[in-house]
Amino acid sequence: MEAIKISDLCKAYGNTKAVNNISISVNRGEVFGLLGANGAGKSTTIECVLGTKKFDSGSVSILGMNPQTERKELFEKVGVQFQESNYQDKITVTELCEVTQALYKQPSDYVALLKQFSLLDKCKSQVSELSGGEKQRLFIIVALIPSPEVVFLDEITTGLDSRARRTVWNGLLELKKKGLTIFLTSHFMDEVEALCDRICILKKGTSIFSGTVQEAISRSPFEKFEEAYLWYTDEEEFNNESV
Ligand code: ADP
Repeated sequence: MEAIKISDLCKAYGNTKAVNNISISVNRGEVFGLLGANGAGKSTTIECVLGTKKFDSGSVSILGMNPQTERKELFEKVGVQFQESNYQDKITVTELCEVTQALYKQPSDYVALLKQFSLLDKCKSQVSELSGGEKQRLFIIVALIPSPEVVFLDEITTGLDSRARRTVWNGLLELKKKGLTIFLTSHFMDEVEALCDRICILKKGTSIFSGTVQEAISRSPFEKFEEAYLWYTDEEEFNNESV
């Protein structure tokens, strides 16, 4: 059974086809990257997959369950990292982790996660006082507290410095080794190369490439993935239909 299966997913806002017939399947233990420029349809796809947005047609399942009708059972096994969250002003890192832990039947050891993502020294700090990069790492930890089988991570390392990015990559690769399935979005192609087993590139709601990073490179006229990615996504400078 696939960890995530998206079939013929469509979602329009008025005349805008935000997601146009997308099919993706992610195997268990895989790291899958959903890529594309701003407005390509990544967030809409993720929201439809998580059941927080109604879609027009198609079907979605996570761990064989329907995210709209089997929410309670499913979200015991699925972690989601939110970009911005409204936490109480004065809540500390430890308190947030404890509150989150209390919601789940078999939570992870959050102290180990704080250590793994180099945030243990901030455990007494208020969440509101953390730097952008520290908050980003904390939100990843919060997504991992349920001991999920699948985790959705949106722009994991935006705003992180080089060292913090490596910490996050290594932490995620460790969890992958233990069988975690990771569905992520990223605007950094070095990150995608370091982490993703397979990718899907969206352009204006349509999937224009699906496969491994190596396949993406070899089907383009370029040798570097970043250049290949720009070639796939950019309509002004390159014309990839001609190749
Ligand atoms: P991405 O996450 O890749 O930046 P989005 O899924 O946010 O892309 O957006 C895809 C398209 O849908 C864009 O053209 C965007 O303007 C449009 N869109 C997104 N949300 C809404 C909304 N709530 N109402 C109308 N149009 C929307």
